[in-house]
Amino acid sequence: MDDIVFKLIESEKNRQKEGLELIPSENYVSSAVLSAMGSVLTNKYSEGYPSFKGISPNEKLWDEAKISEEILPNYRYYGGQVNVDRIERLAISRAMKLFHADHANVQPHSGANANEAVYFAWCEPGDKILAMNLAHGGHLTHGSPVTRSAKIYNFIAYGTNEDGDIDYDELERLALSEKPKIILVGYSAFMKVPDFDRVAKIGNKIGALLMADMAHVAGLIAGGVHENPLDHGFHVMTTTTHKTLRGPRGGLILSRGNVASPLKKPEKTIENIPILIDRAVFPGTQGGPLEHVIAAKAVAFGEALKPEFKEYAQNIVKNAKALASRLIKNGFVLQGGGTENHLVLVNVKESYGVSGKMFEKALDKVGLTLNANALPCDGAAAFRPSGVRLGTPAITTRGMGVHEMEQIADWMKEIAEICVEIGDEESLDDKKYVKDFETVHKEVVKLAMKFPLPKGTV
Ligand SMILES: *Cc1c(COP(=O)(O)O)cnc(C)c1O
Repeated sequence: MDDIVFKLIESEKNRQKEGLELIPSENYVSSAVLSAMGSVLTNKYSEGYPSFKGISPNEKLWDEAKISEEILPNYRYYGGQVNVDRIERLAISRAMKLFHADHANVQPHSGANANEAVYFAWCEPGDKILAMNLAHGGHLTHGSPVTRSAKIYNFIAYGTNEDGDIDYDELERLALSEKPKIILVGYSAFMKVPDFDRVAKIGNKIGALLMADMAHVAGLIAGGVHENPLDHGFHVMTTTTHKTLRGPRGGLILSRGNVASPLKKPEKTIENIPILIDRAVFPGTQGGPLEHVIAAKAVAFGEALKPEFKEYAQNIVKNAKALASRLIKNGFVLQGGGTENHLVLVNVKESYGVSGKMFEKALDKVGLTLNANALPCDGAAAFRPSGVRLGTPAITTRGMGVHEMEQIADWMKEIAEICVEIGDEESLDDKKYVKDFETVHKEVVKLAMKFPLPKGTV
């Protein structure tokens, strides 16, 4: 045992138990997911892919008993794949079933890797990609100048309008004039359900690849409370597996099209997208897959296919709406006026004259964890963001409901008022206010302890 590391892990367990995780991109996995991740599968090299026979859409679909027994010729570079092949096939078939896809690549190490592989599969250096403005809710991997992708491809941004919805007219105008190779709908801070049909219609006019990055809402899609872009003419959907989907830290790419052997170099057509993506993930952008994580993905997808997950997804949205309306009642201004998904973006500056960063730090003191977030009004280079972003996936996993959401919104009001009294961020640690924070912190811990983390994980 490595005493130092394990002591720190124990201390992190306590932090997770005693605090309330409001970061909308985090969650608590089950002990089954955790066990698969911590298994001997980490010892195995398995560059390449298993057979797609029996899990491609035109064959007898998703017979899990068969998948877990059958040993088929694979496309791997190493021997000893007998178990790994069957695990990865199981993960692929479950992902396809969850998201109505013709193909799934379960190997991306992260959401960022998944996006980069899709760009690499479809674009040449210099090609244009139309994606959401980072300051309006888009993600770093959608063209932020600090990324490698932005140095290779030419990103163009559309934004949101005053109602906090996508500015579809602007998107259409830019699509028609710039003729991007990819139109990307995806975001990390956007509270509406996109009109995928409308974007698909625009994309089809110019023959663009329609890509959705559903990293944040994949669990809501899996649970049937959010539209699935693949049901609305989109060709590719990328996602993380660790946010609302409640699986291990990782990425996933789902697509529509023909599934074929990854060994044949295909022509760049929309129909060939699945195979272009497989080749772009490996050997294009990654080496050996993390089969222990892929096993944990298979477990998480299995959990998401169960009826209980539908209920979970419904509760995430119900809780987010309850949180939003109580926050509004408590004097907070919300971006977009509320939420249709799992997250809420609060304009703290406009509400209480407090910066997002100061509010984040103050809430941290009482065990409420969230993050400061730029708002469209801040512009792209926001050093002092005006907002904070919070969401309900993790606290809903703990079993909290509307009553607890209201309590959290009330604590946020209390903390905002303390911040107003303190005035500036530098004085947050002033001894004068220690007691105020301590009082609320004790209440937060008390509530947290009433809603334990998933059994067997801490
Ligand atoms: C979280 C997120 C990602 C990146 O995922 P990582 O696993 O952190 O690389 C990509 N796109 C969107 C929209 C995200 O929210």
